[in-house]
Amino acid sequence: MYTNLDHLKFLLRDVHPISSLLKLPRFAHLDWEQCWMMVESAKALADRHMAPYFKEMDTLGVTYDGKGGVKSHPQLKTIIRQAAEGGWINGAASFEVGGMQMPLMIFNSGHHIFQAANNGCQGYFSLTSGAAALITSFGSKEQIETFVPKMFDGLWQGTMALTEPQAGSSLTDITTSAKPLGGDRYKIKGQKIFISGGQHEACDNFVHLTLARIEGAPPGTKGISLFIIPKFRPEPDGSLKYNDVFCAGDFQKMGQRGYVTTHLVFGDNDDCVGYLVGEAHKGLPYMFQMMNEARIGVGQTAASVAMAAYYASLEYAKERSQGRLASEKDPLKPPTLIIRHPDVQRMLLTQKAIAEGSISLAMECNRLYDLSHATEGEEQRNHWLLLEILTPIVKTYSSEQGSRAAALAVQTLGGYGFTMDFPVQQHYRDLKIMSIYEGTTGIQSLDLLGRKVTMEKGKALALLLAEMKKTADTARPMNGLKSYADQLSEEADRVQSVLGHLLKYAPTDVDRYLSDATVFMEQVSYVVIAWQWLKMAACAQEILSKGDLGTTPRAFYEGKIHTMKFFFRYELPHAEACAATLTDPEYLTGLSNHDLLG
Ligand SMILES: Cc1cc2nc3c(=O)[nH]c(=O)nc-3n(C[C@H](O)[C@H](O)[C@H](O)COP(=O)(O)OP(=O)(O)OC[C@H]3O[C@@H](n4cnc5c(N)ncnc54)[C@H](O)[C@@H]3O)c2cc1C
Repeated sequence: MYTNLDHLKFLLRDVHPISSLLKLPRFAHLDWEQCWMMVESAKALADRHMAPYFKEMDTLGVTYDGKGGVKSHPQLKTIIRQAAEGGWINGAASFEVGGMQMPLMIFNSGHHIFQAANNGCQGYFSLTSGAAALITSFGSKEQIETFVPKMFDGLWQGTMALTEPQAGSSLTDITTSAKPLGGDRYKIKGQKIFISGGQHEACDNFVHLTLARIEGAPPGTKGISLFIIPKFRPEPDGSLKYNDVFCAGDFQKMGQRGYVTTHLVFGDNDDCVGYLVGEAHKGLPYMFQMMNEARIGVGQTAASVAMAAYYASLEYAKERSQGRLASEKDPLKPPTLIIRHPDVQRMLLTQKAIAEGSISLAMECNRLYDLSHATEGEEQRNHWLLLEILTPIVKTYSSEQGSRAAALAVQTLGGYGFTMDFPVQQHYRDLKIMSIYEGTTGIQSLDLLGRKVTMEKGKALALLLAEMKKTADTARPMNGLKSYADQLSEEADRVQSVLGHLLKYAPTDVDRYLSDATVFMEQVSYVVIAWQWLKMAACAQEILSKGDLGTTPRAFYEGKIHTMKFFFRYELPHAEACAATLTDPEYLTGLSNHDLLG
C-alpha cells in the first residue's frame, strides 16, 4: 500500500468539497461519479505500470553514453504512453486545445497516486503537461498546433530549462542568448544544467521551454524571454531536423535515480533555433505560470512520497515483534509487535500528521487553482491571492517536513530501514530534492516574507488568516474541539504580531527584515497545517455526529480527530518557539564577521 484512497475521497468529498466546483460552467460536464472513476483509473494504472518499477528504476538508474544519449528504463515508454492515454497529460487543459477540462483537484489526485507509487516516473509526464500548458497560455496558434498535440500524446517530452551553471536561485544572471532570425525564430546559444527529463529513450522529441536573453535586452529579470527550443525542429515540409541541442551529460544523484537530470548545450554548431513565446522580455512572468504550478506539484509530490513511506513503515510495525511494554516485562511472554510501543506510535503519528496534513494543503491549493480559473471578478482575485500565499508554503512545509517524516519511516524499521531491502530508504533519498528544486527553502521563504505577506497591502495574508478564523469558528461549537479552535486563532494572531515586529526593519534594513525568513516560514507553515488538521477534524466530527458514515469504519474518522489532537500538542507548539526566536532582541543570524563561522 502506497496511498489511501479513503483519505483522498474524504479530502475531495468532505474537506475540500469538489461538489461546489462541479457547479461551475467550466466543470459542468462532470459529476462526482465520473471524477471518482478517473481517480480509480489512476490507481489501476499506477498499480500495473508504475509501482512495480519503483525499486528497479532506482537500482538501474540512468546512464549517459558519452555521445548525447541517455539510457532510461525500458518501462518508461509504456508509462508515458499509458499516462497520455489515460488523460494524465492533457486532463486539466481546456477542450479548445485538446484537453479534457477536468478540475486540477481530480487531475492532481491521479498524480498524487502516481507520485506515491513511483515519484520519479511521474515527473516525466507531469513536466510535459506543465510545458504544454505554458505553450497553450502564451504561445501562438501555430506554436500550439505544432507542439501541443504531440506532447499530449506523450510522444514529445516537455521540459523547463532555466538553470545555468552560474544561475540557479538567481535567474537574473542567466546568459543563454537569442539572436533574431525573423518572425518568432531566434538563434540560441548557451548551456542549461540540471534539466529534468532533458533526454531519454522513451520520447521521440524534446520541447525545452527555455529562458534566454535577446541580444540588447535590458539587464536583470526584465530582459528575459521565453523560447520553445525543440531537439528536432519541424521543417516546412513536415520533416524534423536536428536542432543542435546536445545532451552533454546526466547528473548522477542520491535520489530520483530513474529520473534523468541533464546538461544541455544549445547551438554549439551555430544551428539552434528557438521560437519566441509571447512578447520579448516577458519570459519570467510567463515562466512563473509553470513554476507556480510546479511548486504546488513538488509540494504535493513530497507529501505523496511521505505518505508512501508512512504506509511502508506502518505495515512493518504491524508485523515486527520486538521487546515488551514497560508494564509487561515477563521474558516468558512472547515479544510484542513494535506498533504497541508508544515511541513507535509517536513516529507513526508524526508521519501521518505530516503526510496527510500536507496532502490536504495540496488539495486546498488545487481547489484554489480551479476556483481562480473558473470564477470571475473579486471572487477570482481572492482565490488567486490565497493561492499565491499558499504556494511557497505547500512547497516548503511538505518537502522539509516530508523529509523528516521519511527519516522517521526509516527509523521505525530500525536497522532494516537502512537496508536496500525495504523501500523507505528510497523514499527518504527521493524526498530530499523536493526542498531544493523549483526554488530552495531559502528562496521560498524570501518569497513568503519578502513578497507574499505584503502583496496588495497584506491582503493575501489577511485572507488566509480570515480563512483560519472561519475554520476555528466552525469547529469551536463542536464536541471536544473548542480548545483546538482557540489555539488556532491564537496562533493566527501570533503570525500577524510577529510580522508586525519584523516589518519595523523593512524600510531601513531589508537584510535584517529578511534574514530569518526561513524561521518565519516555519512558524507560518505549522499554523497553516494546524488549520488543515482542524478542517479535517471538524469534517470528521460532523460525519460522526450525523452518523453518516456509509461504509467507512468509525475508526477512520476518529483517527482524523486523534491525529489533529496529536498535531496540535506535538507539532504546533513549534510555531510559538519560532515566534520567540523571531522576536528575540538578541539577533544572531546575519553575521557581518564571517570568521565567527570558524
Ligand atoms: C535533480 C534536480 C533536478 C532539477 N531540475 C531542473 C529543471 O528541470 N529545470 C531547471 O531549470 N532547473 C532544475 N534544477 C535546478 C534547481 O532548480 C536548482 O538546483 C535550484 O534552484 C538551486 O540552484 P543552485 O543549485 O544553483 O543552488 P544555489 O542557487 O547556488 O544555492 C545554494 C544555497 O544558497 C542559498 N541561496 C542562494 N541564493 C540565496 C539568497 N538570495 N538568499 C538566501 N539563500 C540563498 C540556497 O537556498 C541554497 O541553500 C534541478 C536540480 C536538481 C538537483
